[in-house]
Amino acid sequence: MIEYENLASLNEPFHEEYISSFKSVLKSGWYILGENVKKFETEFASYNKASNCIGVASGLDAITLSIAAFNFEAGSEIIVPSNTYVATIISVLQTNMIPVLVEPSLETYNIDPAKIEASITNKTKAIVVVHLYGKSCDMEPIMALCKKYDLKLIEDCAQSHGATYKNKHTGTFGEFGAFSFYPTKNLGALGDAGAIVCNDTDLTKTIRRLRNYGSDKKYYNELIGYNSRLDEVQAAFLSIKLKRLDEINSHKRKLASIYLNNLKTDFIKPVVDSDYFDVYHIFNIRHLKRDALKEYLLENNIKTEIHYPVSPNNQVALKDLFKNQQFPISEEIHNTTLSLPISFFHTEHDVQRVVEVMNKF
Ligand SMILES: *Cc1c(COP(=O)(O)O)cnc(C)c1O
Repeated sequence: MIEYENLASLNEPFHEEYISSFKSVLKSGWYILGENVKKFETEFASYNKASNCIGVASGLDAITLSIAAFNFEAGSEIIVPSNTYVATIISVLQTNMIPVLVEPSLETYNIDPAKIEASITNKTKAIVVVHLYGKSCDMEPIMALCKKYDLKLIEDCAQSHGATYKNKHTGTFGEFGAFSFYPTKNLGALGDAGAIVCNDTDLTKTIRRLRNYGSDKKYYNELIGYNSRLDEVQAAFLSIKLKRLDEINSHKRKLASIYLNNLKTDFIKPVVDSDYFDVYHIFNIRHLKRDALKEYLLENNIKTEIHYPVSPNNQVALKDLFKNQQFPISEEIHNTTLSLPISFFHTEHDVQRVVEVMNKF
């Protein structure tokens, strides 16, 4: 069986270092927001060539706190892509903002810059872009729109650790880059964790307060904040894995190149462009008979996933919000996309086997 993902196998190369770092955190007696968090924050800021990094409890919180930091009037509008993991939209709703969905490009699966302007109103305050599947959005036109309409820019980088656009890291184009370290992500912890990268000193200070009940001095609260702190154990694990993030990404890129070069043209493959350094958090293809293909692969002992089976506007929890709107491109992607095995533990041989079976479909 070729699994889609296996977190125990994925983490095997790190076992010994994880165990010894766990022992040292255990002995230290300091478990939340300590030296390990500070160390990881410094390392992750430097990895991304950003000035600051603030560790938080999850990717969802990283986006939520980023929006909250601006203190926009309730009911302000925030532009988000219509095809994203639901967390991006939930973060907008949790901060009492109105999500305005903009369709993606059918080629890159990322928000289509040409479609954003028509959705900007005098209530629009920010754009939250998502670098989906590990490919950066087309940042130049998006930044031009932010400048023209004075909008804040937040990047959801939950799938794009290490991805770049014109040699600049995702997460460093806007005011905030919001990262998730959910165990399956390219940089994954052994539990929930997240971080925000930021180049502005004042905004960084606000996030540091927001994550800790609005306080940066014990028992003195400047803001009505959240409890969204990164713990020492996860931070220590993340420092260990960060040293090998480039190796993880290049392994995934190598596996992706096998798919790109060998899958027959019946399958619509991800686009490749030299301005973009893609890290393939997910390697997806599209096919009209997606469900039959998934079934066929399973019969041949190959597991796949769908990211995502239901578009956000069709989710039970959200559909009333978007009921009179149409998102045909997003729905087409949701109906045809299939994610192929591309984990750090998969071998080139595994991927060659997937290609061989797929090409007989
Ligand atoms: C995983 C993910 C999130 C949420 O991260 P959590 O750490 O699970 O809260 C947000 N956005 C995208 C695009 C994701 O893939």
